[in-house]
Amino acid sequence: MKGDILLEKHSEALPFCPDPRDKTQAEVALRFGLIYWMKRAERYFNKTYPVPELDLSLRGKCAGQAYLQKWKLRFNLGLMAENYQDFMLNVVPHELAHLIVFREFGGRIKPHGQEWQAVMEQVLGVPAKTTHRYDVSKTARQHYIYRCGCPDRVHGLTIRRHNKVAQGVKYQCKGCQQELEYLYFSEEAETL
Ligand SMILES: [Zn+2]
Ligand SMILES: [Zn+2]
Repeated sequence: MKGDILLEKHSEALPFCPDPRDKTQAEVALRFGLIYWMKRAERYFNKTYPVPELDLSLRGKCAGQAYLQKWKLRFNLGLMAENYQDFMLNVVPHELAHLIVFREFGGRIKPHGQEWQAVMEQVLGVPAKTTHRYDVSKTARQHYIYRCGCPDRVHGLTIRRHNKVAQGVKYQCKGCQQELEYLYFSEEAETL
């Protein structure tokens, strides 16, 4: 399979949405868009995948999230309404690629590592970029960075909570239920 990145071709194939601010229209377009990207992955790996559960309740600065074990995607319809084209061409394949990578390579790899990049570029045919549109507000002033099972999420813990972890207290991600695992100390805001 060629790794041609032909955004123009994708744009033509993706569903036309006359008014992305209309919630019903946006939801229908998103479902069709997701299927479009899934078909590409299915052709490449020569298998079918179940349609991921869709949750469209995401708010704030975060455009999308992937819940690997739950095979579920969350999207932010508010951000989609503001930038429909970019959302369909970048955010949707970005999150779907996390699920595909998890299914094909397991969960013990880097969220945006070489496998994810290969799925983005070789399989889906879009640039493998990680953007700054993911939610950073919560970790901006909190310096102890933890990860969970969600690929686009890090958790910033305060020194108080970090010290509690050292004493044996366990914290869980509310999204994926996975126990938080300490990554590193950070002086700056996180962007994934
Ligand atoms: Zn990601
Ligand atoms: Zn999580």
